[in-house]
Amino acid sequence: MQYPPGIAYMDGEYVTMDKAKISVLDWGLLRSDATYDVVHVWKGRFFRLDAHLDRFQRSIDKIKLKLPVSRDELAKILAECVQRSGHEDAYVEMIMTRGVSPTFSRDPRDAENRLICFSIPFGWILKPEDRESGLAVAISEIRRIDPASVDPTVKNYHWLDLVMGMYEAYERDATTVILTDPDGNLTEGPGFNLFIVKDGRIATPDRGVLEGISRKSAIDLARELQLPIEERAVPASEARMADEVFVTSTAGGIMPITRLDGKTVGEGGMGPITRRLVETYWAKHSHPDWSTAVDSVLEAK
Ligand SMILES: *Cc1c(COP(=O)(O)O)cnc(C)c1O
Repeated sequence: MQYPPGIAYMDGEYVTMDKAKISVLDWGLLRSDATYDVVHVWKGRFFRLDAHLDRFQRSIDKIKLKLPVSRDELAKILAECVQRSGHEDAYVEMIMTRGVSPTFSRDPRDAENRLICFSIPFGWILKPEDRESGLAVAISEIRRIDPASVDPTVKNYHWLDLVMGMYEAYERDATTVILTDPDGNLTEGPGFNLFIVKDGRIATPDRGVLEGISRKSAIDLARELQLPIEERAVPASEARMADEVFVTSTAGGIMPITRLDGKTVGEGGMGPITRRLVETYWAKHSHPDWSTAVDSVLEAK
């Protein structure tokens, strides 16, 4: 078994990724009973760390877990994982699982919640060298889990709908998938949010989705660039007629979809609005309002 180079924090210790293991009795494994967040580090700086810490804490509260450390301690643990791993560009994950109940009781309140953090090399949904050619995506008939069943604003591992969608996409010569809701509106894909552009106006689904931090970044940047943007229901039919479609994710930022269900999107290639957002997004990575040096987190009191 090969592990990516990286460092994990578990039970108060920093270990290499091959040592970062949980019990098979952890509710996180047996029940997908966990929440997580992923922040990235670019050229030694966390991108929007506060937004990720806020969302992680909200998720933890919503599913009745208890973070065993303070917010500042958590930030330091994440920074420590990055520093020890030596990564300049990193994918930094924090996970809380329900944990194991000492008596294996079926009462979730008996379980001892567990915090795990790790830093591994930055990963892309679409590599920068493939950005111009973009993603080929299939819109699936598979419905994203109903938001009335599992709160999609809690970042979670209920991914079987998404993973089965990916298999469907591969059969249809696409690289990834978008799931819909019962009304035929777009929701999201495996780890990314979705945007469409038509006649210069941008829209992104406002329901049944995780409120991605990269989604928020794209919305903030569009406003800064004075591009009209709406959060609303986006029918799949609109995406098929869009001039541009793009996805947002911590794993790669803003990335164009250039083929949708086997057809070219717009003129093909990365559209002009997507390009402006991609450029501004990456430029923000050195901006002090948007990023924090890993070293400064470690030095903070
Ligand atoms: C993580 C994730 C996203 C993207 O969120 P970011 O904070 O931008 O990385 C979108 N949808 C799902 C289901 C996710 O898990």
